[in-house]
Amino acid sequence: MVVKQAVVCRLLLTPELLTDYCLLFTAYCLEPPMKALIIVDVQNDFLPGGALAVAEGDLVVPVINQLSREFDLVFTTQDWHPANHCSFAASHPGKKIGDRILVGGQEQVLWPVHCVQNSFGAELAAGLNPQVISGGVHISKGTDERVDSYSGFFENQRKRATGLNELLRQHGADDLTIVGLATDYCVKATVLDALELGFAVTVLTKACRAVNLSSDDGAKALAAMRTAGAKVV
Ligand SMILES: [Zn+2]
Repeated sequence: MVVKQAVVCRLLLTPELLTDYCLLFTAYCLEPPMKALIIVDVQNDFLPGGALAVAEGDLVVPVINQLSREFDLVFTTQDWHPANHCSFAASHPGKKIGDRILVGGQEQVLWPVHCVQNSFGAELAAGLNPQVISGGVHISKGTDERVDSYSGFFENQRKRATGLNELLRQHGADDLTIVGLATDYCVKATVLDALELGFAVTVLTKACRAVNLSSDDGAKALAAMRTAGAKVV
């Protein structure tokens, strides 16, 4: 068997093919896969003390700051809701936080009022690397009062895109690392859409935290991302 493999290798490596392999390898070295960091919703309202605080949400900030130095391309997504947004329990008389209703035919969890446009709560976490805040590419989502947008790519009813896909393509990015808040909602939705769009995706769990309305929501979300093809580390 070893001899057969050796013969096959010798047959494959004709001078012409060897030249082709060298050219391909050179092209790969000149243009390695472009990597981008996607920071999902690391905003004041999702940190402890915020309107929709995620437990330990603040702990992702220093991890992301360290990580951001390793990427040439950094994108941030931000919930950016109008004051009467459909995801707020306060927008639905008689409903309370945690209730589930149908919005546009889709189940919508009702949340406290959070990340209202131009409010302090909607700002990116103050502790983030200033270069991320001022130099990153920011994607606003959930801007239509009639529909929520967990994913950084599409609103929940998938009728409209945020533009993130096109921006990543324009920059030649095809290998994404996705982190942020919260694992079981916006990180999960962003990761699943990225995979469906054909990106390679890595999820760094040390830079994510979950809401965990049920205690295992975060673990289930990570399992779903892994099953869909994400590298979860
Ligand atoms: Zn929201």
